[in-house]
Amino acid sequence: MTASMGSAHAQEAPGDLDPRIVKLVASISEERFGAILKKLENFETRNSLSSTDSPARGIGAARQWIFDEMKGYSPKLQVSFDSHRVPKQGRITRDVEIRNVMAILPGRSARRIYISGHYDTVARPGGQGASNAGGAPRDPDAPPPAPADPTAPVDNRAPGVNDDGSGTALTIELARVFSQSGLEFDATLVFMCHVAEEQGLIGARLHAQQAAAAKIPIEAVFNNDIVGNDRGGNGIVDGASIRVYAEGPEDSPSRALARFIQRWGGRYVPSHRVRPMARPDRFGRGGDHSAYNQLGFTAVGFRESRENFTRQHDERDTFEGISLPYLAQNARVNAAAAATLALAPPPPVVVSERGQPMISRAPSGYDANLKWSASPNAVAYRIFWREAWGPDWQHDLLVGNVTGTVLPNMQIDDYVFGVAAVDAAGHESFVSAYVSPPRASTQITEQQ
Ligand SMILES: [Zn+2]
Repeated sequence: MTASMGSAHAQEAPGDLDPRIVKLVASISEERFGAILKKLENFETRNSLSSTDSPARGIGAARQWIFDEMKGYSPKLQVSFDSHRVPKQGRITRDVEIRNVMAILPGRSARRIYISGHYDTVARPGGQGASNAGGAPRDPDAPPPAPADPTAPVDNRAPGVNDDGSGTALTIELARVFSQSGLEFDATLVFMCHVAEEQGLIGARLHAQQAAAAKIPIEAVFNNDIVGNDRGGNGIVDGASIRVYAEGPEDSPSRALARFIQRWGGRYVPSHRVRPMARPDRFGRGGDHSAYNQLGFTAVGFRESRENFTRQHDERDTFEGISLPYLAQNARVNAAAAATLALAPPPPVVVSERGQPMISRAPSGYDANLKWSASPNAVAYRIFWREAWGPDWQHDLLVGNVTGTVLPNMQIDDYVFGVAAVDAAGHESFVSAYVSPPRASTQITEQQ
């Protein structure tokens, strides 16, 4: 086919990419990132225990600016403080009111997709570089040394431009491009700037606890923490890849989300490599996605590929340590995957009401017989499979608007199977895999 015929043909049959998502991804602005990060840096500290009475410095000024900034983007964005009174405990050295800043972009359905970062910062003597050089990974839950006056605000300089100004800027910028895109999403998008991450994921834990108690259907959390620097402290530079940490087991929903980000981020942003990591996070380090994981939600953590530990948790975490082109690429991957997921139907349910995977060897006894529950607005389903030893899907097959299919002579014991829901425009959900539930041990009594 010639190029001219190709373009005529392309108008009749849509390709894998949705031009509206291409446009949304292209509207992410490096310039906006520069402006947001400089603003965040100018608060000098955003420590969750810093002063709240200054209009220009500290956590109080920062959260109000983030609130006003997102509010200004679109009347469609519902911006609020998610506030909590936290008594002194652990690394919270005094009673304090903390506020996540959240912007909700309502979709047609209640299912929610979160894009998040944490806007609070911390700087300690020696920073993360000193912690790492100490040998064994630091215990992230160890209490800090007691301050001279535990009731005083913690107002030392902590610019936190990369940790986690980068994830915060990414969240704020995506609130802008999604709310101004003119797109109607099926899922409700939540742009969440968490607080008190540095005291033990406190803002994320409190929000996730409330969401779990209220049975809010959070389908996925894209958490971004330290995503703006492409230059490792050891001199190795990598501005062309991003790590995505996802807890196990191997076919957990969080792993399915990581594979989804690799598949769709990679299609819309082919110049950027998504590197899924089959573990909850880096050694001895934590992030807000884990607060959601621990309450049963699907959540992954984006992390830059090469960290500079000497800048983290240190006064040196300044704007000079940021690569705007790199941050923008990471934002494009987030945007492409989140937009696809938010436009797609919800993932199909592949377990029975009793929690059993709906897979069998019928009818011959040697076939792969897959069944699932229909997803609203799906017009087709894509079956995925891979050898039972291996992390990545190897094959896929589009089937019609059905709730089951048979792959003859495919031994179900030798492959992992999954199914995704696809809408009329080709938007695909993430894959629901058929997994054997773990079997409880049965106690056998011996004859005495
Ligand atoms: Zn962080």
